[in-house]
Amino acid sequence: MEDRLRRQEDRWQLAMAANNDGLWDWDCVTGEVFHSARWKEMIGFGPDEPVDWEARIHPEDAERIHTSIQRYIARQSPQYREEYRLRAKDGEYRWILARGIAQWDESGKPLRMVGSHSDITLRKQAEEALRLQTEALARAKEAAEAAALSKSTFLATMSHEIRTPLNGIIGMTGILGDTELSPEQADFLQTIRTSGEALLSIINDILDFSRVESGRMELESEDFDLWAFLEESVSLVAASAHAKGIELTAPIDPETPRFVRGDAARIRQVLLNLTGNAIKFTSKGEVVVRVLPAGTDSMLRFEVSDTGIGIPESARVRIFEPFTQEDSSTTRRFGGTGLGLAISRQLVSLMGGEMGVESMPGRGSRFWFTIRVETGHKPAEQTEPAFELAGRRVLVVDDNSTNRKLLEQLLHGIGMEVTSAEDGIAGLRILLESVKQQGFDLVLLDFQMPLMDGIMLTKSIRAQQQFAKLPIVMLSSIADHEHAAEAADLGVYATLLKPLRRGALLAAVSGAMCAGSRPREAGGEKNTAGAQPSRGHILLAEDNPVNQKVCGLMLGKAGYTFEVAANGREAIQALDRGRFDLLLLDCQMPEMDGFAAARANRTRSGPDARMPIVALTANVMSGERERCLDAGMDDYLAKPIRPEVLGKMLEKWVPIKTAP
Ligand code: ADP
Repeated sequence: MEDRLRRQEDRWQLAMAANNDGLWDWDCVTGEVFHSARWKEMIGFGPDEPVDWEARIHPEDAERIHTSIQRYIARQSPQYREEYRLRAKDGEYRWILARGIAQWDESGKPLRMVGSHSDITLRKQAEEALRLQTEALARAKEAAEAAALSKSTFLATMSHEIRTPLNGIIGMTGILGDTELSPEQADFLQTIRTSGEALLSIINDILDFSRVESGRMELESEDFDLWAFLEESVSLVAASAHAKGIELTAPIDPETPRFVRGDAARIRQVLLNLTGNAIKFTSKGEVVVRVLPAGTDSMLRFEVSDTGIGIPESARVRIFEPFTQEDSSTTRRFGGTGLGLAISRQLVSLMGGEMGVESMPGRGSRFWFTIRVETGHKPAEQTEPAFELAGRRVLVVDDNSTNRKLLEQLLHGIGMEVTSAEDGIAGLRILLESVKQQGFDLVLLDFQMPLMDGIMLTKSIRAQQQFAKLPIVMLSSIADHEHAAEAADLGVYATLLKPLRRGALLAAVSGAMCAGSRPREAGGEKNTAGAQPSRGHILLAEDNPVNQKVCGLMLGKAGYTFEVAANGREAIQALDRGRFDLLLLDCQMPEMDGFAAARANRTRSGPDARMPIVALTANVMSGERERCLDAGMDDYLAKPIRPEVLGKMLEKWVPIKTAP
């Protein structure tokens, strides 16, 4: 028996030695324990040195190990396999993986338990290092997230703080520009305005950049007409190209899909950034913008090519990094923040595409980007006439025959009956003669005409009693506020800037006829606009005195009367006192802010509770629009407020009054 056991043990020893494990053998009846030489060596003892195993278990592990063994020999657990720390002779702990099996007699009493020890200290150390690293990473990630969050909150606040005074600056320059100024003053004013606009665009860039970085940029999805989109986008920067004598073209490829679905505003932002750069870095030649289907998967490829200074190979990767420009001297020469391309590339990748550049220094560059779009439907045409135009009679007065033909074509195209005259005298004669027959519903006249210009012609028309209300729309090739204002005083519905765009023309024509056929009523209203009846009475709730002034002046100029409230509470009180057509409501105000005021108004009784409310806000972070709508407001204007945008917004929400 002894012999057999010894032989068995020898075999075990051999097997264990082979995989470098130590062996232990516990006689459960006598309580004797045998430890192999390797077992002892593992914790720094010689083969003949006695070792008190139990005393060497790490205090934190001891109970767990005892319980585990007890449970196993009591057959409450299927196996004994534990990792724990054992104190070596030198006092250091080693990590041990212990495994063992037991033998029981028929009555279930344990007789013997035999097992192995493997040294797993190195593995444990590696695991621990990994755990610490993961923890550190998680902490760093948390810190970074917190920092990003506070950064974007900081940016939102900063943007608000900077936008508010900028609103004053840009708004005031616009208003000052309409007053009489010497050429030198006008030039100074222009500089202030351009600087203000530049500052605004930097703020917008920084905000965009942080929004994309913090993952808060949300894409919209709408159907749009890609052909018109391209035409419109290019027309926005056409003036700056022409001012430098650069040809700017955007030929439409017949293969380019017409109606697509995507975030038109973001695509435009990228396209305008590239086109703007192309114009900026080109002094002669041309800039060409193209859109093509990019092979598979409803991908579009946009290309902006220029014949400008080009970009050296070494800089072609770098320029897409934030705040980087090809070399710092270009900054001084051309200005810019070096953020444009970084934002553009981020936007493009959000839209499922890529961006790149090919370039030959001195010859030019071609920037390209791809984006994924869905096939779209024809969007509901907003510029189609809201007023039935077919069959209406229009008189066109223009000395330029090409222009006359163009107008005739456009107006015929929508079913109007067109008569043309080549100068003011002929036009007036036709108009007077027409009275005997059907008469005209509308006059479309050019401002620049020899002998009798558009203003003179309008005066002559208005001089006739029967034409006092005849709808008139004027066309002009120069943006001249003075003439436009004079025309407006004479009751010209709109002065359109050439080159004419179909949508703008139709909107003006139908708007003019709509307004002309339903005369506005001025009954019982405060009227600051002299002889002109007010287009509507507005309540302006805004705490900042500069903005009160800017916005007020804009309202007055656009033909509206208004009252000012300095916070939400005052606004509600004003609403209780009087009747308004619309409430312009600043979101950030002391005492009662815009959101609270909007909610308070909706809970009031009476028809006023449904009056249109347009939010004014300097906070352009995503979600602001939703916050406004949630609070019961109808629309939203971002500061700085521009007269054109404010005007459009008011036209949208203030109903044209019908005679009782
Ligand atoms: P910004 O134009 O505001 O400086 P961008 O990120 O738009 O910033 O451009 C970064 C740099 O890339 C520019 O400063 C310029 O050096 C270079 N670059 C961009 N577009 C062109 C181009 N069409 N031709 C030559 N260089 C360009």
